[in-house]
Amino acid sequence: MQLRIPGPTPCPPQALEAMGRQMIPHRGKEFAQILTSITAKLQQVFQTKGDVLVLTASGTGGLEAAIVNVLSPGDRVLSASNGVFGDRFADIAEQYGALVKRLTFEWGQPVDPDAVKRALSTDTGIKAVLVTHNETSTGVTNDLEQISSVTRDFDKLLIVDAISSLSSIELPVDAWQCDVVICGSQKGWMIPPGLTMVSVSQKAWQAQAQAKMPRFYWDFTKAWEYLQRGQTPWTPAVSLCFALDATLDLILEEGLPAVFARHARVAQMAREGVEALGLSLFAKASHASNTVTAVNASDRISIPRLVQILKSEHAIDVAGGQKKLSGKIFRIGHLGFVYEDDIRAVLEALAQALPKARS
Ligand SMILES: *Cc1c(COP(=O)(O)O)cnc(C)c1O
Repeated sequence: MQLRIPGPTPCPPQALEAMGRQMIPHRGKEFAQILTSITAKLQQVFQTKGDVLVLTASGTGGLEAAIVNVLSPGDRVLSASNGVFGDRFADIAEQYGALVKRLTFEWGQPVDPDAVKRALSTDTGIKAVLVTHNETSTGVTNDLEQISSVTRDFDKLLIVDAISSLSSIELPVDAWQCDVVICGSQKGWMIPPGLTMVSVSQKAWQAQAQAKMPRFYWDFTKAWEYLQRGQTPWTPAVSLCFALDATLDLILEEGLPAVFARHARVAQMAREGVEALGLSLFAKASHASNTVTAVNASDRISIPRLVQILKSEHAIDVAGGQKKLSGKIFRIGHLGFVYEDDIRAVLEALAQALPKARS
């Protein structure tokens, strides 16, 4: 089976092998070495000199951790959302008592940095801005560099869902002054779901010291204190740490610029390939994502049928649309352990499956 969904993504043999290891104590010397090694390598991939914490949870846990660590109930927050995951981030903040101002953009369109600027100039009481770097539900990459220059000018906390971007698409955390950046292991990191990696800036730590939202499992202070002795406060997903140690080596050996360039090449191939098959892209090429390609169904194609044919006749898993895009688009995931040949296989399968999926 070829897994071409935007997470979980396929694992390279090095990750699978690492996970087959016997357990070790999570409060021993060997685990401490592994956690220390992972953390240093994560700082390289995040391009930060700040702290990176490894928490055991799916990506959404990391989003919740970010919210409860830097905000207090009643804090005003600006959410810039252009899809399912942007909306989820806003929902979490709201659930914990933040007053969320929702700046929404049409699905398939990017977040407009000028609109963020206007929102921050008219509403000066806003403390933090929530944004999704790469909106996986629509296949759009937002211009985080521009957005970050706005939040920097207004001196706001910038909290970024980078779950389907960082490690696959350029995101220099320090250069773009992002305060909290959240990742998820099953996306571009080439290991199974279960770890969330979160960077915390100095400004975020200052906010964290004041923040009053309830937190226990997610407490960044506890995570940081334990990290100083090579531990996590709670039992971590030890096997995933073995795997992450191995895939971080793969990423750093290939080199970040080469990893980003490979994702760009593979994405361009996917976009050009589906267009050559007579299909149209849900997001314009100018802001289309390099990790997931969203494709419109033409009127005559049934998406559930297409997805089913690709699975049963070609052993390829692609994803459908989420929420209001269900039945309207399908998505090809191309992040992490993915090369040109993988996309070629998807395009060949699509060429055969499309005529059969017409209604
Ligand atoms: C996958 C994804 C999530 C959700 O992560 P889970 O690991 O399913 O909790 C959140 N945001 C984005 C942008 C994603 O791609």
